[in-house]
Amino acid sequence: MLRPPFGAVVTSGGMMDYPESYYRQTLAETRSRAALRGRVEVDTLVIGGGLAGLTTALELARAGVAVAVLEARSVGFGASGRNGGFVGPGFAAGDGIILRHAGPEGARRLWDLSVEGMEHVRATIAALQMPGVAPEPGVLSVRRYHDPGLRAEAEAATAQGYRLDHLETDELRALLRSRRYFQALRDPQAFHIHPLNYLRGLAAEIERLGARVHEQSPALEAHLSGAEKRVVTAGGEVRARRVVLATGGYTEGLVPRLRRAMLPIATYVMLSEPAPDLLAEVIRTRHAVGDNRRAGDYYRLVEGGQRLLWGGRITTRAADVTGITRELRHEMVTVYPELAALRTDLAWSGLMSYARHLMPQVGRMGPGVWHATAFGGHGLNTTAIAGKVVAEDILGASDRIRAFAPFGLTWAGGTLGLLAAQLTYWKLQAQDWWRERGAA
Ligand SMILES: Cc1cc2nc3c(=O)[nH]c(=O)nc-3n(C[C@H](O)[C@H](O)[C@H](O)COP(=O)(O)OP(=O)(O)OC[C@H]3O[C@@H](n4cnc5c(N)ncnc54)[C@H](O)[C@@H]3O)c2cc1C
Repeated sequence: MLRPPFGAVVTSGGMMDYPESYYRQTLAETRSRAALRGRVEVDTLVIGGGLAGLTTALELARAGVAVAVLEARSVGFGASGRNGGFVGPGFAAGDGIILRHAGPEGARRLWDLSVEGMEHVRATIAALQMPGVAPEPGVLSVRRYHDPGLRAEAEAATAQGYRLDHLETDELRALLRSRRYFQALRDPQAFHIHPLNYLRGLAAEIERLGARVHEQSPALEAHLSGAEKRVVTAGGEVRARRVVLATGGYTEGLVPRLRRAMLPIATYVMLSEPAPDLLAEVIRTRHAVGDNRRAGDYYRLVEGGQRLLWGGRITTRAADVTGITRELRHEMVTVYPELAALRTDLAWSGLMSYARHLMPQVGRMGPGVWHATAFGGHGLNTTAIAGKVVAEDILGASDRIRAFAPFGLTWAGGTLGLLAAQLTYWKLQAQDWWRERGAA
C-alpha cells in the first residue's frame, strides 16, 4: 500500500536534497545553491536555513546588513519544509503555561506577537508573489465531544479582537461528514500554505537583496566568545560580528548549551492517492482541519482537492514510518470510514524542537550571539515573529525580543526528558480517550 522510501533523502539535480514528500514533489523551482568555499566576512551569520533562520536573514538583508546563511542540507530540509502548512496564531504551549511564566500582560503581548507572525507570513507571500505557495484561508478546530463552553469561548475571543466562529453539529457535519465531530471553532484569519515553496521564496529574496545562502554547508565548529566570531564548515569559514543559531530539531552538538535545552520530537504526515470524488464526499471545505487533542489529527485537501494530506502522532525516538502510517490510517478511517479504500502514496516524518516549558527559546545567549529555536509543533507564525524580533534586536530597532525572556534555555532533561515527554503524551492520549468515550 505504501510506496517506499518514506524517509529517504532524494537528490535531484545538482546538490539539492530533501526527504521524499509531497512538498518535494511539487517544488515550484529546483535550483541548488553552492556550498561555502573559502573565507567569507559578513556582519551577521545565520546558522540554519529553516523558517527561523531565513526570516531573520531576510529581515536583516532588507535593512541592508551583510548576511550569510549556512544550511547543512538544502533550505527547508528540516521541519520547515515538511510540516502541515497550517499558519495560525498562538504557540505550542497552552495558555496556562504562558500565563504562569509571563503573567497576564506578558501573555497578551505574546499573543499579539503570535498574530503578527501569522500576518507577517501572509504579507511576505503577497509582497513577493511567491510561486507555488498557494495560501488557502480558514482553519477549523473540531471537537470530538460536546463542549458546552465552546460558544462562549468563540464569543470571548471575538470580543477581545480575534474573531472565531462557533459551528454546531449540523453546520459542521455539512462540511465534514464525520460522526466523530460535534462542534468546531472556525478561524477565518488562519490559512494554510505549501511551506517548502515559501522557504525557497524566502531564500530567493535573501539572495536577490545581495546576501549569501550556502547549502550543503553544515557548521562544524563555532568559536563564539571573541568580538569576531568564527564558524567553520568542511569547505570554508565565516567571520562575523554576530551569529544567530536557528537549527531547530536538527540541533546537534555545535553549541552544547543549545542542544541541552531542547528535545527533538518526531511527528508524521501522509499523502493520499489522487481521489477527488471520494474526498469531496466527506470533506466539503477547503479549510484546513485539526482537532484539539494534544497531538491530534490535522489534515487538508491539496492539489485543488485531488489529494488528502493527513498528519499526526508524535514519538520521542525515530519510529518506523510504515508502522506510524498504519496508525495514521487507522485514525483517518475512524473519522471517515468511507476512506478505508483510499490508498496512501507517501509518508514522511520530521523533527520538532521542544523546550521543557514548551515555548520558543528566542534571545541573546551571549555577546553577539542570538538563538531562535524550540518552536515545537506551532512554528509557522512563531518562527516569523522570532525572526523579526531577533533582527530588530540586532538592528537596535526594538526590544520586543524581551517578550520571550521568561522562557529561557533551561535544561530539557536529556534522556529522562524524552521519557517524561513520552509518558506525558500517553497520559494525554488516555485523557482524550476518556473525554471522548461514548460521545459517538
Ligand atoms: C511533520 C510536521 C508537521 C508540522 N506542522 C506544522 C503546522 O502545520 N503548523 C505549524 O505552525 N507548525 C508545524 N510544525 C512545526 C514547524 O514546522 C516548526 O516549528 C518550524 O518549522 C521550526 O523551524 P526552525 O527554523 O526552527 O527549524 P527547522 O525547519 O528544523 O530548520 C533547522 C535547519 O537547521 C539546519 N541545521 C541544523 N544544524 C545545522 C548546522 N550545524 N549547520 C547548518 N545548518 C544546520 C537543518 O538542516 C535545518 O534545515 C510541524 C512540524 C513537523 C515536523
